[in-house]
Amino acid sequence: MEQPLTKNIKAGQTLSLKEYEQAGGYAAVRKVLKNNAPQEVQQMVKDSGLKGRGGAGFSTGIKWSFVPMGDDARHPKYLICNADEMEPGTFKDRLLLEGNPHQLIEGMILAAYAIKADISYVFLRWAYRQAAEIMERSISEAYAAGYLGKNILGTGWNLEMYLHTGVGRYICGEETALLNALEGKRATPRAKPPFPQVSGLYGKPTIVNNVETLSCLPHIINNGAVWFKSLSASEDSGTKLYGVSGKVKRPGVWELPLGTTMREIIEEYAGGMANGYRLKGVLPGGASTDFLTEEHLDIKMDYTSVAAAGSRLGTGTMIVMDDATCPVGFVHNLQHFFAQESCGWCTPCREGLPWVEKILLGLEKGKGSTEDIELLQMHTQYLGPGNTYCALAPGAMEPLQSALKYFKDDFMAHIEKHKCPYGN
Ligand code: NAD
Repeated sequence: MEQPLTKNIKAGQTLSLKEYEQAGGYAAVRKVLKNNAPQEVQQMVKDSGLKGRGGAGFSTGIKWSFVPMGDDARHPKYLICNADEMEPGTFKDRLLLEGNPHQLIEGMILAAYAIKADISYVFLRWAYRQAAEIMERSISEAYAAGYLGKNILGTGWNLEMYLHTGVGRYICGEETALLNALEGKRATPRAKPPFPQVSGLYGKPTIVNNVETLSCLPHIINNGAVWFKSLSASEDSGTKLYGVSGKVKRPGVWELPLGTTMREIIEEYAGGMANGYRLKGVLPGGASTDFLTEEHLDIKMDYTSVAAAGSRLGTGTMIVMDDATCPVGFVHNLQHFFAQESCGWCTPCREGLPWVEKILLGLEKGKGSTEDIELLQMHTQYLGPGNTYCALAPGAMEPLQSALKYFKDDFMAHIEKHKCPYGN
């Protein structure tokens, strides 16, 4: 099994520039800058079938193709790495940032070249202090080695790269809120369209790609689109960094063929449930995805299969809920997070999420009624897709609507017994 993104990463260690180069690092940049036009790089990535690993799964090559490329295109153009990994239960990009920073920098150089960007930023989660130090050092190393700055490798192409550390708000990972944050404004989402590819940072063409997505690029360029497709166990190309948290024997992150089954990841890689616990539900890709249950364990963890099962692959990092955890309390905890992280820009999200949180708290304390269930169901519609500026509130409704579907008996038990049956 090939694990191109993680094979050189050793626990607790960072690959230095020298080690990265010895392992073939920066060969893709050398190859492409000398031999290929930017549009050819775009085509290679389009052919590879790479889909965005931040959660949405949008085709990377198609996203790039929206960037104006003619001589009349407005400059500077920007390439931004979204490293604001704040989805609950998600800790996959951290491994890549801390373990192999030059793989990411090389991926960013390739992406920037493909869209003829002049300036690039790593927008890093505030809490990733160690990654901040590592990225700062690695960017300096890449400048010193001539991979960044003016006249890169003597080709006449220039690219600047900066590290920007966020202030720890979930909304800053939403690409247009991220742009506002970078501009020093309040981090609220912008209306789309226009999409950032056309009008992004300071109104200029901008691509925002996730850490894992960008880290795939050197390997695609070195080995080709056909090879990248062959890594997968499904229709979607490549490998995926899957993670598992919750009461399993070995929580962690593993790079596996895209489309590995949920059962294999949870039972083999995470070692199965910890002694004394049974699996009750799984959020397949972070907190903003719909619950799946034991009956879904054999689905392939790819974009199409997880969607067909009624959820989303999202970040691919599963949160496993066990049978000793109260689903009402669990969902209340998630809604507390989402309500706290709402930027307040649009009414359904600002007003709706705290209300949902309050209703769930009442239910958890045994003070709820069947009308509360109806109210919650109404909220899953009001806060759903199309009613808000961004995906925060619709994402928050995914675990709620699916909990109401799969764990309705637990909600009802709270109402009938006037207390939490799990002893909360
Ligand atoms: P989205 O589907 O709206 O967009 C995804 C990307 O595709 C964006 O870059 C967008 O510009 C582009 N795009 C989509 N439609 C387009 C179009 N018609 N024309 C041009 N470009 C288009 O999703 P989103 O709101 O950017 O992201 C939501 C996802 O983020 C969720 O799936 C969630 O799982 C994930 N998420 C991840 C984290 C994390 O920490 N990694 C945190 C929160 C949410």
